[in-house]
Amino acid sequence: MKLFTEKKEDHRISQLYALVNSKCPRCRRGDVFQNSMYGFRAQKMNENCPHCNLKFEREPGYFYVAMFVSYGFNVAQMIIAGLLTYFITHNSESPWLYMAVIFPVVVVLAPFNYRYSRLILLYYLTPGLHYVPEMSRDKKVKTAI
Ligand SMILES: [Zn+2]
Repeated sequence: MKLFTEKKEDHRISQLYALVNSKCPRCRRGDVFQNSMYGFRAQKMNENCPHCNLKFEREPGYFYVAMFVSYGFNVAQMIIAGLLTYFITHNSESPWLYMAVIFPVVVVLAPFNYRYSRLILLYYLTPGLHYVPEMSRDKKVKTAI
């Protein structure tokens, strides 16, 4: 009788970890973006995954769909900012207070929306694009003997 089964080590990368760290949806190893979310330069996407060579822009104009996701993010953030402003200040008179709060929130979160709308599109709204654990493995290094 076998008392202890050897547990196979799981090297799989969780979807949430990969999404938060903006990794490729197929291998969850390669970076989707070349630089960080907040910086002096605009965010730039890699054309292909540096690990598994997946082409991120599936077809021309593919990321236009991400605008709808980004729109949803924006509306949700504006509503939350407006409600928080109301609950903190109890002001229902001045629209300028709401403008002064909501506008900076939208500007500050724009890079976040840009990045995560594209990632949500790649992860959840793209048919036929799934995690392939075999793609996640380290590339075999050819050694000359
Ligand atoms: Zn990849």
